[in-house]
Amino acid sequence: MKIVHVAVEMAPLAKVGGLGDMVGGLCKDLAKLREDVEVILPNYSFLKTRKLPIECHSFKYLQDGKLNRVCLTKLDNLSVALIDHKKKDYFHRPNIYGYSDDAERFVYFSCAALEYLLEKKETIDILHVHDWHTSICAVLYKEVFEKKGLKIKKIVLNIHNVEYQGICCPGLLDIIGLESKKHLTNGCVNLLKEGIIHSDAIIAVSPTYAKEILTKENGYGLEGVLKANEKKILGILNGIDYTVWNPKTDKNIFFRYSPKDRVEKIMKIKAKNKKALRKELGLEIEDKPLICSVGRLVYQKGPELIEHAINSSVKHDAQFVLLGSTHIEELQKKFSNLESKYKKHKDISINFTYDEKLAHQIYASSDFIIIPSLFEPCGLTQMIALSYGTIPIVRKTGGLADTIFDVDEKNKTKNGFTFYGFNKKELDEALERALRYWNQNGVKLQKLIKSAVSSNHSLSSVAKEYLGVYKKLIS
Ligand code: ADP
Repeated sequence: MKIVHVAVEMAPLAKVGGLGDMVGGLCKDLAKLREDVEVILPNYSFLKTRKLPIECHSFKYLQDGKLNRVCLTKLDNLSVALIDHKKKDYFHRPNIYGYSDDAERFVYFSCAALEYLLEKKETIDILHVHDWHTSICAVLYKEVFEKKGLKIKKIVLNIHNVEYQGICCPGLLDIIGLESKKHLTNGCVNLLKEGIIHSDAIIAVSPTYAKEILTKENGYGLEGVLKANEKKILGILNGIDYTVWNPKTDKNIFFRYSPKDRVEKIMKIKAKNKKALRKELGLEIEDKPLICSVGRLVYQKGPELIEHAINSSVKHDAQFVLLGSTHIEELQKKFSNLESKYKKHKDISINFTYDEKLAHQIYASSDFIIIPSLFEPCGLTQMIALSYGTIPIVRKTGGLADTIFDVDEKNKTKNGFTFYGFNKKELDEALERALRYWNQNGVKLQKLIKSAVSSNHSLSSVAKEYLGVYKKLIS
């Protein structure tokens, strides 16, 4: 089967969050299943492709007659096509997102991706697009490229986060040959909404999120159009790439351990990692629990509850390490104030950066990870934490509800601490229960750690599920 993914993130080349992890890991695993898989990605100037075999050529961007460039490379068995505009600096910037012309950049990219496929003259079984950035491909194919001779059997749209929709001015669609009048919502174009209407199948990144997006609370205004397309919607829980997130082989961490080791040994080596991390971050080396938070600092992640968890940790004589980055000014201020407040504090380490290596070290060293999200489509940090024996404390929403089961829950594999209400009181209760487990340091904690490291959220089984969906679609 010829499967083409068009996305703006793909780990390890270009990643900001879970979208990158998922596209990179899923495509790698689909290719391992001997499918013919290609990923089309913008050719960001920061990509580290120097060590990869690469071959570039130009092709016409039909909309303005100017030239595109495509560079073809391979990551293991996976074909990757990197596209950029020869004249415009759409992707010659330090970051993936955060520019006033993001919609223009990604609409251009979506259109250029289809032109590249048209030029190849191959029949594509599945075109798989991700989030608002590339969802317009579905409309473009049906209204423009099919008539030009491009052959795509079915188009799948993955919704990783319905909050981001790509609302832009209609002029952008005219540039790529679409009749914008046909695609207006309140005088604007909503790129995600167009993808929802025109794709053949929609996959939300967890079963709970697939239901949540149909509600007013979590549909962010698209619940109506999603409800109307409900028959096309399916929830498939994301997974993680265990060749990247494995404490046995992880070259980023200080001391390695295997999930198969006896739990006493795992705890001993985690304690050694904790000591090394404390040294690195300037935290006091004392017998205290270490709680962490790793993620984008955006409202979805519950920044006020993360701040509260930091304050609560101090009260409970626990340590806290935060790794996060944000483009939101208000949150930058909030966390900078917090950083100043705890600058000399021996138990708090606040790190405003994107640092892949530090993230690995934090997962391997911490006792608990706290994820108090307002909503969480899937969430990968809880799965990653589990694989390092770090116990999640999460709010029961979206994919967190599908993966983390409270120690006091019946009939489930218990692997963490959960709470329901998006408030400080319920978070505190969960945090206190977790700290009690740590202080007792008994068999119950050991069982929990063993259950965490034994969990399996492998992307290779997720890839099989996706393949099943593809086969059903084209049969
Ligand atoms: P989202 O997709 O909403 O950002 P996920 O939990 O699905 O959240 O995925 C987050 C991914 O990004 C994880 O791999 C996490 O380790 C990584 N990540 C997030 N923020 C940072 C950071 N500041 N430094 C390093 N890695 C980060």
